[in-house]
Amino acid sequence: MMAGAMPDRFAVSQTEGAMKLIASGPNHASFAFGDVKVVALRDGYVDMPPTRLRQVSGLAFKTVPAGVALVGGQLRLSVNAFLIIEAERSVLIDTGASNSWLPTMGALLAAMQEAGIDRHSVTHVALTHTHEDHVNGLIAPDGSAAFPRMEHVFVGQEELSVFRGRLASLRDRTRPIDDRFQVSTRITAVKAAGHSAGHTAYEIDSGAGRLLAWGDTMHVPSIQFARPEVAWEFDSNQSKAREARLMLMERAVQPNYLVAGAHLDFPGIGRVTRNGEAFVFQAI
Ligand SMILES: [Zn+2]
Repeated sequence: MMAGAMPDRFAVSQTEGAMKLIASGPNHASFAFGDVKVVALRDGYVDMPPTRLRQVSGLAFKTVPAGVALVGGQLRLSVNAFLIIEAERSVLIDTGASNSWLPTMGALLAAMQEAGIDRHSVTHVALTHTHEDHVNGLIAPDGSAAFPRMEHVFVGQEELSVFRGRLASLRDRTRPIDDRFQVSTRITAVKAAGHSAGHTAYEIDSGAGRLLAWGDTMHVPSIQFARPEVAWEFDSNQSKAREARLMLMERAVQPNYLVAGAHLDFPGIGRVTRNGEAFVFQAI
């Protein structure tokens, strides 16, 4: 174990050295990362009962497992989105819930303002999946398009049908994607179905390191790194979600990788290392 520990520690300092905090506030954190700028945006949070955590059997735990972080008896999931600013385009990965769910969410546009980002500068949106807290921020609370100059919204091909009703006006801008789709010169889709049928991670190659924006691969970091077999009630296929979580963590433990999670504690970015069968997360 000791032999492996040293290179991992070295990789941490290398990668974190490559991602430099430029500015931050209550709802944003901006980083320089090689040839791109990464802005973590906090849409808010959602509290969920611990019974959402699932054993391999699919059943809830009888008692909350040791180590699970609770706030007032509930799991508190941060809701994050990430803006990747490249020379030729700005790609927003997920969009928060806007006014569609709870008043504890919907801060994304305010977070952008706090970061000094004009929402008209968002040229592309890449969705990890189409649950409410990821897709509904495409529409502002007043019913208008949140990102009026958006050219395309990329979405796993299995989930295209969500673009009706609230989202119908954006349907002609959707682009269904599959594994390895090139969102931009620096961003590549990594299919990771399980949480939903079209669940997709995005790998950003900054030139100075890689950032894996993995959506809902992880809902409760206080247990799912240490026990990746623990699933989530809303995983549409819990065993596939478990496989996808392991697949992406195996990718993320490589040198010069960071991950960005939609529900990791804000700003939701950090380094994954291995510890036997378990994994460890170190926030940036
Ligand atoms: Zn989610």
